[in-house]
Amino acid sequence: MHTGPLGTLERFKGVGNCPAGYAARLRETRELFVHLCFCLLFGVVGVKNRITMTYLTVPIAAKDIESAKEQIKAAQKGGAEMIELRVDYLDQLNASMVRELISETRNIFGRKKLPIIVTCRSVRHGGEIAYPDQLRVNVLVGALQVGAEFIDLEYESFLSTENKEKIIRALSQSSKGRLILSAHNFNGKFDDMRKLHRRIMTVYPAAIPKLVYKANHINDCFEAFDLLHSTSGERIIFCMGQAGLVSRIIAKKLGAMVTFASLDEKTATAPGQLTIDRLKKLYRFGDINSETELYGVIAFPAAHSLSPAIHNACFGKARLNKLYLPLLVEGGKAEFGLFMNNILNRGWLNFRGFSVTIPHKQNALNFVGKNQGFVEPLAKKIGAVNTILCSRAGTLKAYNTDYAGALDAITSKLCITRNDFKDMPIAVIGAGGVSRALVAGLSDAGADLKIYNRTVEKARKLASEFGCSYAPLEDLENIEANLVINCTSIGMHPDIDATPLPKELLKKDMAVFDTVYNPSKTLLLQQAKQKRAKTVDGVSMFVNQACEQFKLFTGTEADVKLMSRVLKENL
Ligand code: NAP
Repeated sequence: MHTGPLGTLERFKGVGNCPAGYAARLRETRELFVHLCFCLLFGVVGVKNRITMTYLTVPIAAKDIESAKEQIKAAQKGGAEMIELRVDYLDQLNASMVRELISETRNIFGRKKLPIIVTCRSVRHGGEIAYPDQLRVNVLVGALQVGAEFIDLEYESFLSTENKEKIIRALSQSSKGRLILSAHNFNGKFDDMRKLHRRIMTVYPAAIPKLVYKANHINDCFEAFDLLHSTSGERIIFCMGQAGLVSRIIAKKLGAMVTFASLDEKTATAPGQLTIDRLKKLYRFGDINSETELYGVIAFPAAHSLSPAIHNACFGKARLNKLYLPLLVEGGKAEFGLFMNNILNRGWLNFRGFSVTIPHKQNALNFVGKNQGFVEPLAKKIGAVNTILCSRAGTLKAYNTDYAGALDAITSKLCITRNDFKDMPIAVIGAGGVSRALVAGLSDAGADLKIYNRTVEKARKLASEFGCSYAPLEDLENIEANLVINCTSIGMHPDIDATPLPKELLKKDMAVFDTVYNPSKTLLLQQAKQKRAKTVDGVSMFVNQACEQFKLFTGTEADVKLMSRVLKENL
C-alpha cells in the first residue's frame, strides 16, 4: 500500500470547520506542495554526489585522536565501506581536531577513497559529550571545508535559523559535501514517521533524511520497512534495539543508503548495532540485494540460535540469493499472528520460509491451520510445527522436521532403517516438546515406548495419547531398553556434570541417544562410550532437522559436513 504524499492528499478531502485544525492542514498542504516542487526540481537537475549503494558504515567513537586512529585502522581491516566520525566522543573537541581526523582517515585508507560522515551528535539524540550547539555546527562547517562527503545534523538543530544559514552557506561552498538531517527516538516509534520524513525533505530537499527509532517489538519494524519501500533515493531508515536488529541487516535489500556496524561489542554507538564481522560473515552482507529471498528463525529468545550460522553458510556455499535472519518474536499467539500477517501483507519483503522454535511451535501450527495452509499430518499429531514455507502467492505449508531429524540421526548412526524400530523397546526420558516429537515419530514407526519423566502426570498424558507406557524417573533403575533417549535438558551447558541416567545403569548392548547438543559430548554419552554402548549425539539430530529444513527451503540437499562443522564451531 502506498501511503506517501498522495495518501496525505486523500486525508485533506475531509477538512473540518475547526480553525486550528484547518490552519494545521493548510500548513501541511503548503509543506507538501513545497516538497513536491523540490522533488521535481531535484529529480530533473540532480544533486551532487548521489549514492545508490548501501554503505557498510563503521562509527569511530574515541576519546582522542590516537585511539580514533586505531579504530579507523581496524575499520579498514574489517572492510568498512564508509566511516562515520562520531566527534562528539572526542575530549576537548575543536574544529582543528576534526580536520586532523579527516586527514588521518584519508591517509589510512590511502587510494581507496571511502566517504566520510562527520557527526557531532547532541546528547538529546544519543551524543556522548554535551558540546554547545555553536561548537557542534562550527565543527561540521570545518569538516565540509576540508572535504568531508557528509555531515550529519539533527533536523531539530537545523531548524534554528542561525544553524541553518551557516550550514547552507558551507554546503554551497563545498564541491561534494552533503547534509544528513537526522531524527531519533530512543524510546519507541515516532508519532508520525511519514510526516516527519516529509518535513525533513521540505525544510531542505537536498538533505538525506535519517530516521531511526527503537523497536520495542519486531512488529514495530514494519513501519520502517514500509517507508523504505515507498520512498526512493538516499535515505537512512532503521530500528534500534534487539527487536530492530533485522532492520539493520535488510536495510541493504530495501535500498537504504547506510547501515551501521561496530568494530566490536565495546565500540557500538547504538543499541542493537551488529559488529562488522557478524554482518559480513554471518549475514553475508556483500551478497544481499533487492532480489534476496528471506528466511529466518522465529524464536524468543533468538540471539543465541545457531540456525542463522548454519543456514547462511549453506546458502552461501550453494550460491543461493537467500538470507537467513534471527526473528525475535516476543509474546504469544497474538504477537506471533501479527508478525505473520505483517509478513504476508508485504509480499515485497520476499519472505519464503521460517524455522520456528520455543515458544511458537504450537502458535505456528494454529496459524497455518487457520489460514487454510497445509499441515503435515504427523506435525498435527505432534501438535507443533518447526518449519513454515511461504509461497510467492502467500500460501503456507507447515512441517515438523524435529522427529524426522531425530529418527534419521538414530538410523544413520546405528546403521538401521525405520522398519527396525518396529517393536524395539525404547526408553524416552522427558515429556516436553522434543520428547513429544520423538514419541510421535517412534510410535508411528511401531516402537515399544516407555516414557520416564520427573513430572509423572506429563508422562502419563503423553503416553496415553500415543499408546505407550510411562513411569517416574526413579523407575529408571529397572530400565529394560535397546535404545535410551534423553529428551530432558539434564547435562546441557552449563550443567555439564549432570546426567539423567547413572553410569551403573548403562549397558554395552544399549544404544544411547542424547538430544542435548551443547555440549555435543554430554556426560551421558561419555559414560555410555566407556561402557562400549553405541551413541548418537544431539548435534546429529540438530544437523539432520536443519538439513530437512534446508531441503524444504531450497528443494536441494544441504551440505551436511558444512552444517556440522559450522555448528560445532559456533557451540
Ligand atoms: P521442554 O519442553 O521444556 O521439556 C523439558 C523436559 O526436561 C521436561 O520433561 C522436564 O521435566 C525435563 N527436565 C528439565 N530439567 C529437569 C531436571 N532438572 N530434572 C529432571 N527433568 C528435567 O524442553 P524441550 O523443548 O523438550 O527440550 C529438551 C531438550 O532437548 C533441550 O534442553 C535441548 O537440549 C534438547 N533439544 C535438542 C534439539 C536438537 O536438535 N538436538 C532441538 C531442541 C531441543 P518436567 O516435565 O518435570 O519439567
